[in-house]
Amino acid sequence: MAQVSRRQFLRAGTGLAFGAGLGTPFLQWLADGSNEAIATPAIWKDLATSLEGNLFRPDSAKFAERARPWALRYADKLPQGIAQCTSEKDIRTCLQWAQAHKIPLVTRSGGHSYAGYSTTTGLMISVSALNSVNADQATGLAILGGGARNRNVYAECKPLDRAVTHGRCKDVGVAGLVLGGGIGFNMRSQGLTCDQLVETKIMLANGRVITCNEKNYADLFWACRGAGGGNFGIHTSFTFQTFPVDRLTVFQLTWTDKIVDTFKAIQTMTEKAPEGLGIKVSITAKKQANSTVLSLSILGQLTGSMDELNALLAPILTVQRPATNTIQNLPYWEAQEFVSEEGLPEYSHERSRFVKGQLSDQAIATIISNLNAWPGTSLAATWKYFLLGGKIDQKRPEDMAFVHRGYSMLSSIELEWKPEDLQVIADNERWLSTFHDQMEDYTTAYCYQNFIDPSQKNYLQAYYGDNLPKLQAIKRKYDPTNLFRYPQSIPV
Ligand SMILES: Cc1cc2nc3c(=O)[nH]c(=O)nc-3n(C[C@H](O)[C@H](O)[C@H](O)COP(=O)(O)OP(=O)(O)OC[C@H]3O[C@@H](n4cnc5c(N)ncnc54)[C@H](O)[C@@H]3O)c2cc1C
Repeated sequence: MAQVSRRQFLRAGTGLAFGAGLGTPFLQWLADGSNEAIATPAIWKDLATSLEGNLFRPDSAKFAERARPWALRYADKLPQGIAQCTSEKDIRTCLQWAQAHKIPLVTRSGGHSYAGYSTTTGLMISVSALNSVNADQATGLAILGGGARNRNVYAECKPLDRAVTHGRCKDVGVAGLVLGGGIGFNMRSQGLTCDQLVETKIMLANGRVITCNEKNYADLFWACRGAGGGNFGIHTSFTFQTFPVDRLTVFQLTWTDKIVDTFKAIQTMTEKAPEGLGIKVSITAKKQANSTVLSLSILGQLTGSMDELNALLAPILTVQRPATNTIQNLPYWEAQEFVSEEGLPEYSHERSRFVKGQLSDQAIATIISNLNAWPGTSLAATWKYFLLGGKIDQKRPEDMAFVHRGYSMLSSIELEWKPEDLQVIADNERWLSTFHDQMEDYTTAYCYQNFIDPSQKNYLQAYYGDNLPKLQAIKRKYDPTNLFRYPQSIPV
């Protein structure tokens, strides 16, 4: 037999010899009692010789580093091999090989899944080398490889003074971003990343590459815009309609006093804000000498002048002056450096909720009391929101798989920690769960699929709402054997 189960492997007494020198996570994986197939070294060698790109195995240099996801709490789950694909042919070879030997597979682009869903104990198919970006000034179309990251978009679109709605973290993969929707500071004026997608090439389980757009394979194209990550196939390219960009006014203000009154003034300002305003508002809890200290901050960009921004901020500044205040008018791509974040791998858990309308006084009081009751880690806990509206709502919930239209905010609670005592993490997770559940009274039951959350109840309904039955039908049509799966994937 070409492959053996983990149990058969251990029963045969070869586990320790094979696992020797491969590190604790690999031994834990062997011992965790699941019944997944393990391919023999000879079979892995077959794969290695069939690939144009490299195959990394647990004894390859820096293997754990290559396998490491952004979400460090899942870094112990190591694959048996990482195929660094350099062509569609390589991806096809991986798909055929994994199916022939019944090895589970996963696609990895930027590796920034919050839930570590681009990790596996089988074969990791990395498309990160397919990171080309070809943008055409005349048509405004940009064709990106399936493994391009935000940083590739920044580099290639900058000389053209054009952009798409990209995220703030340069290392995030465009694949994961667009396939789950894609929010960013341009979304109110230009729509979501998925709204700008005009075509994508996807390899199905049988190795066939199809080009999906509004005319061809329109059902799959519909599904990929909001529910595509890891569900239907492996995307090898994305074509976007870019838009021209100009100077922006970017800003970051923070307050440490009168948080509730200042927050309310921000909410009131946003009710009539122009579409060119993109903001993130955060209330952060940190521990100082055993007490919890809160701060409020607002980060964003305005397609407009400093005077226009100052006019918007004026009613907020009458509540109180900020503790820190930076406002700059910059060319678009310099402005993106101001608002971007490094987004290094970390231990964290983020849970989101879409919000309709304004948050009531009671909702704000619930946020503040929960943050004040934060049990504490060595880092921070943040409740935050991104302002929605504008062009996002020019599409209807049924126009594509991304169902979340007509909301005012995408809110989330973010918990961050360094490696800590297990009890500390357990206390924090309990706190997060209570806070998240309480917020449902003031928000909606819908959550952002790109802030994918392994502890979300009714997650399929929360991510896809009324679009779920159609998505399941499309899944059955294009991936009937459920080759592309992960714990929260769309079931057949
Ligand atoms: C630091 C940080 C900042 C973020 N900022 C933003 C933001 O500004 N806006 C926003 O909307 N979201 C943001 N996110 C969330 C982000 O959009 C999602 O985590 C996204 O899924 C990451 O994509 P990835 O390609 O980097 O991740 P991966 O872990 O590689 O992939 C995510 C999922 O997509 C699948 N997948 C990857 N590549 C392909 C492919 N080529 N074909 C088919 N399936 C594929 C994977 O199997 C996995 O299920 C951020 C996340 C982090 C960690």
